[in-house]
Amino acid sequence: MSNLSILQKYPDYEVNIGMEVHVQLTTKRKIFCTCANEITKEPNSNICQICSGHPGVLPTLNKKVVEYAILAGLATNCKIAPISTFARKHYFYPDLPKNYQITQNTEPICIEGNIDITLEDGSKKSIRLIRIHMEEDAGKNIHSTYGNESFVDLNRAGTPLLEIVSYPDISSAYETKEYLKTLRSIVQYLNICTGNMEEGAFRADTNISVRKKGSAKLGTKCELKNINSFKFISDAIEYEIERQITLLENGEKVRQETRLWDEKNRKTILMRSKEEAADYRYFQDPDLPLLQISQNWINEIKKQLPELPHQKFERFIKEKGLTEYEADILINDIELSNYYEKTSKLNPSKQIINWILRDVLGYLKENKLTISDFKVTPEKLAKIIELVEKGVINNIAAKEVFEEIAKNGKEPSEIIKEKGLEQIGSAAELEAIIKQIINENPGQVEQYRSGKDKLFGFFVGEAMKRTKGKGNPNIIQELLKKYLK
Ligand SMILES: [Zn+2]
Repeated sequence: MSNLSILQKYPDYEVNIGMEVHVQLTTKRKIFCTCANEITKEPNSNICQICSGHPGVLPTLNKKVVEYAILAGLATNCKIAPISTFARKHYFYPDLPKNYQITQNTEPICIEGNIDITLEDGSKKSIRLIRIHMEEDAGKNIHSTYGNESFVDLNRAGTPLLEIVSYPDISSAYETKEYLKTLRSIVQYLNICTGNMEEGAFRADTNISVRKKGSAKLGTKCELKNINSFKFISDAIEYEIERQITLLENGEKVRQETRLWDEKNRKTILMRSKEEAADYRYFQDPDLPLLQISQNWINEIKKQLPELPHQKFERFIKEKGLTEYEADILINDIELSNYYEKTSKLNPSKQIINWILRDVLGYLKENKLTISDFKVTPEKLAKIIELVEKGVINNIAAKEVFEEIAKNGKEPSEIIKEKGLEQIGSAAELEAIIKQIINENPGQVEQYRSGKDKLFGFFVGEAMKRTKGKGNPNIIQELLKKYLK
């Protein structure tokens, strides 16, 4: 599918998308017990009576979870509720032995925030948040691939989650992607979530409806569940928009339902018709008291707020002189922006950003690596660039040094010595080579002198060949200009 939105085919329609994002928090312990909040391989090895739902046990709220929720609220301009409550959301599922999930319903901890996203034309759009609330995750059902068996693993039960709910202010697949990217960077910068979508640490449910432009009422929405990649979300939304518009165009109705993305057949399929909120029979959890949050505590947490993505974006442009395009790529990946900052502290060269966007990202992508297991550390990249700028090696050799380090992690100086990459910068040595080239190619010299300027490249190429790529290109060019006159 092209980059053009499917909406361009249907100019009379507009789309309203609201997001519910589940953010798995990285606190040390689970939300209502002292079990470690970590994935273990052995099923049911990380559980206690509380998170496995024994009757008669009492939950105790983990203060760190509240702190993380407040951080998320402050970073997204929410109001922090001085009093909030926990509720029971009832449903039956084997991975939920209590038969209810503890969540927040009518009095969530954060309300009415907003997140600014960048549109295709570079302008900003504010997506309003309805709320952020805390809740516990359920366990996992594992269906055997051999027989008709199913297993329940409760290790994940009681893992703390934030659910971040937006108004239906998003109006295309592109905006959805931007919203998710921005939100994911925010929680990563806050250091409250890994943001890993494949592992389900950051998962999005998408509510989509379409309506005729100018219509006051929102259309009937469908929910797309748990799509775990940016690409699939985009494709699923585009498909769903067209499906709904086609229904309306044919005089049919959109039914409220939950749908799944079927990547193989590239379409959304019905999962279930949507439950109404009343089906969950929410009521306030009598085991948990009112949660009161003082302004003092909020002020304390405010002091811990780190630099956020949009602030880093502004700073990279102002202080480092990056373009918006360059800054945007960096801020969307906190590891990459840390890598850039460390390198540029060691060497303020303007070349760093080019090396990162071209060579570093290229290498990582090609070899399916992440920054954390990349052998060209900021120290080593800064050194390579310094050696080029001091004239010790030329750009061709620098690439070779870079590739070598990426493979074996050696020091730049070691590789240069081993491979004899040091640049031939001595004018006398180069002069001899250039005189030789001129003597051996009288025909080309003649043509160049009679006005065929393009041949200059031929002479440069010859000189690089004879120096095995180690000639200093600036000196070569100067000498050629001198002798070809
Ligand atoms: Zn537990």
